[in-house]
Amino acid sequence: MKFGKNQKLKFDTDTGSYSLVTDRENFDSQLTATDYEAQLLVDYFGDSNILVGPKKDDPQKAAKDFKHYPSGKTITLNLVRPKPEKTELRLYLSSRAGFKPEPNSIWFMFVKDSNLWIGSMPETEWRNENSIIIYDESEEVYQDSLAELDEIKIKNLKAKDVFSRDRNLAIKRIKMENYACEYNSSHNIFISRHTNLPFLEAHHLIPMSLQKLTAQKLDVLDNIFSLCPYCHRAIHHADKNLTRNIIDKLVDKRPQVLDIMNVTPADLFGLYSVEEIY
Ligand SMILES: [Zn+2]
Ligand SMILES: [Zn+2]
Repeated sequence: MKFGKNQKLKFDTDTGSYSLVTDRENFDSQLTATDYEAQLLVDYFGDSNILVGPKKDDPQKAAKDFKHYPSGKTITLNLVRPKPEKTELRLYLSSRAGFKPEPNSIWFMFVKDSNLWIGSMPETEWRNENSIIIYDESEEVYQDSLAELDEIKIKNLKAKDVFSRDRNLAIKRIKMENYACEYNSSHNIFISRHTNLPFLEAHHLIPMSLQKLTAQKLDVLDNIFSLCPYCHRAIHHADKNLTRNIIDKLVDKRPQVLDIMNVTPADLFGLYSVEEIY
């Protein structure tokens, strides 16, 4: 699979791929690179430099240098194209050479500073490290400000928001939705003792953390969704199936949100690090 925006940011590159290591691949000590992965290897090493056939035919040609992530050590692995008529490549794993990812972990490659980096990590770690969604202190401050009437408190809260979001826009969205959760309007919402109104939170479907990468404003009505506290926590923290459900439902409800940064639902899954990895 091709790197998404999140991986590109994390590894500071435009070119990278990742996929799941199957039990079989680990057992056989070989990874099969197809599609984009194979393309990346061909682009990097050059088609004519890739050995066609078994590695014993030309061990020198099969041996390829990679930079191991994160150590930066140069490691040498064997790479061949087993069948001339096919585009798929075979990369041999070796503990001795320093690369033998565990079954069900994620292995990845990316090009940076003219080197081809290679690494692996457990799937949960990969997802955690690649999520672009943050729920920091300033997020709480912003949410609190939506159900606050005290002007001084609001000012104080606002001063702490790292994204300088406009709380009036969020309040407008929540009003437009008749104080209901946009994932499921039948969700039970408690009443705020400060405003006497149902307590809803505002979620930016295209994460505010991407604002630094685009000139388009992300703090806009189309991108702000009214969610109950349960669903809001869920879109940030739930397992990938529930998070994907919520994202799908919100996109269905307001498809124009995709125009903001020209993203697809699949891009959103990637940004939230809940995509299916194969
Ligand atoms: Zn949120
Ligand atoms: Zn809800």
